[in-house]
Amino acid sequence: RAKEEGGSGHYRYEPRLHATAEERRVLEVALRRALADGELSLNFQPVVNAQDETLVSFEALMRWNSAEHGSISPGKFIPLAEDTRLIVPIGAWVLEQACREAARWPRDVRVAVNVSPEQLLERDFPATVVNALSASGLDAHRLEIEVTESIFLRDPDVARNSLEQVMALGCTVALDDFGTGYSSLGYLRKLQFSTIKVDRTFVDGAAEGNQESLAIVRAVIAMARSLEMTTTAEGVESPEQAELVRSLGCDKIQGFHFGRPMPAEEVHALFRQREPLIA
Ligand code: C2E
Ligand code: MG
Ligand code: MG
Ligand code: MG
Repeated sequence: RAKEEGGSGHYRYEPRLHATAEERRVLEVALRRALADGELSLNFQPVVNAQDETLVSFEALMRWNSAEHGSISPGKFIPLAEDTRLIVPIGAWVLEQACREAARWPRDVRVAVNVSPEQLLERDFPATVVNALSASGLDAHRLEIEVTESIFLRDPDVARNSLEQVMALGCTVALDDFGTGYSSLGYLRKLQFSTIKVDRTFVDGAAEGNQESLAIVRAVIAMARSLEMTTTAEGVESPEQAELVRSLGCDKIQGFHFGRPMPAEEVHALFRQREPLIA
């Protein structure tokens, strides 16, 4: 952060690294207060059945609207929350909040919640899930936990044990952003994921005619099937992309084509509109 030196004409050396560290420090101070100040919220993005396009679930996606800094993207504040371990209390709030919203939806609509390795490796992570379920009254079968391959980097046994406890409650676990991280296929046999989410980069690539991406999407779908896991294509933005992943055999689709992440009130409005049709 450059300070004006009254036109002395001196050249001030400002290494970019310094600016970044300073920016992070300033954001960290704000993030420490964000939860208590009510600056965090959840958006929900629909996931549909690839065959009939019926609604399957919503993924909860965190938003931060800082009074001081404006809207900050998850790509920026999630890594900061992870580095500072603020993701542990914030993530517990996300879990409970997402379950509370889902408890008000029709019973056949599930909710998916992203969980960072820092949360999963906490001893009391399973207790945090139990708390969220009991506080909200949500049936465990309606909650899916999304983790990325990175959970297997640090402490695979602790991560697996934690997820197995959560699965014993009735929750399912999805493997997010598949193919972008640490890829050892061994763990896929050790943990029964319900769903593998095919990362948007491969969906994009395949739709653009990239043969490697296409081969990867095909291979992931075939592998998931043989392991009795379903697949979700992420980041589907056009009817053409939807048709492609459907024809390749993806079970579920998520992306702007079917719906953007939306505030909880919009989800409720959606269900209120539909109610007469259901009844
Ligand atoms: P993710 O879990 O892979 O979530 C999907 C991301 O893709 C979301 O970005 C979503 O808005 C975006 N997306 C969905 N459909 C499309 C599409 O058709 N096109 C494009 N271009 N993008 C699409 P978002 O909301 O910015 O979140 C980014 C990441 O931040 C998430 O990736 C997740 O890893 C993390 N994140 C978000 N909320 C939470 C949270 O509550 N806890 C944790 N631990 N991580 C979270
Ligand atoms: Mg996710
Ligand atoms: Mg993802
Ligand atoms: Mg992602």
